[in-house]
Amino acid sequence: PVPCPQPADISPRDVFIAVKTTKKFHKARLELLLDTWISRNRDMTFIFTDGEDEELKKQARNVINTNCSAAHSRQALSCKMAVEYDKFIESGRKWFCHVDDDNYVNVRMLVKLLSSYPHTQDIYIGKPSLDRPIQATERISENKMHPVHFWFATGGAGFCISRGLALKMSPWASGGHFMSTAEKIRLPDDCTIGYIIESVLGVKLIRSNLFHSHLENLHQVPKSEIHKQVTLSYGMFENKRNSIHMKGAFSVEEDPSRFRSVHCLLYPDTPWCPTNMVY
Ligand code: UDP
Ligand code: MN
Repeated sequence: PVPCPQPADISPRDVFIAVKTTKKFHKARLELLLDTWISRNRDMTFIFTDGEDEELKKQARNVINTNCSAAHSRQALSCKMAVEYDKFIESGRKWFCHVDDDNYVNVRMLVKLLSSYPHTQDIYIGKPSLDRPIQATERISENKMHPVHFWFATGGAGFCISRGLALKMSPWASGGHFMSTAEKIRLPDDCTIGYIIESVLGVKLIRSNLFHSHLENLHQVPKSEIHKQVTLSYGMFENKRNSIHMKGAFSVEEDPSRFRSVHCLLYPDTPWCPTNMVY
């Protein structure tokens, strides 16, 4: 018989979840995550930010000040992704997952999803933000250009990479290499990840509909399926407020992101969740 890699049993400890944030969102966005999904998953969550915050360090176990610029520039965001990658490699864990600070992570489902893939193989999983591959120009030298096209998983929905694949990315992603790779194609950090994996290494993105960004209509996630999703989000979409639609523990006024209501659905024993709810 041909031996085939068996999906391994993994525990939350095997997963490294990098949350990208910036100082101005520590109160506005991170607090909500610390109160909800991060509170149940402190050991797997690593917060990557750009400014010192003693308060935050008291509330979260792993806070990494990247010393990257706090600007929303391509360079600043690539700088953060580069640090996330290096810290993951250093951690020795089996899976790297990246999310934004407007994502809710359903860790039970994340671990379940990752358990069905071998971390030693080349796995890149997430949701593409476009319905076609992105077209880019690779700068080979001063005046030599090369058109490339590849799929990438949108960072705003979260994505995961196996350790086996992450190690192969090292020549283009480790140390200062991620920044220079990003400059070669002049695209945002999540595109650069897709470029390294699909275009350079020839590994295909595995699409999952269980990852969600606020660039899709979140009203379309049915309430009966919310507990099965891996990530959720909230924010703006086509100039309108966008969030999961659910009747839950809290009103839309109390809980505009719906994350507190989602959290009570997933962890009804949470002290601040109403005890008389029928979910
Ligand atoms: N972000 C950052 N630096 C900035 C602005 C944003 O690191 O100057 C992070 C932010 O915390 C979030 C991600 O980048 O994790 C995406 O930002 P946002 O949701 O504001 O923008 P989007 O791209 O979703 O419209
Ligand atoms: Mn966002």
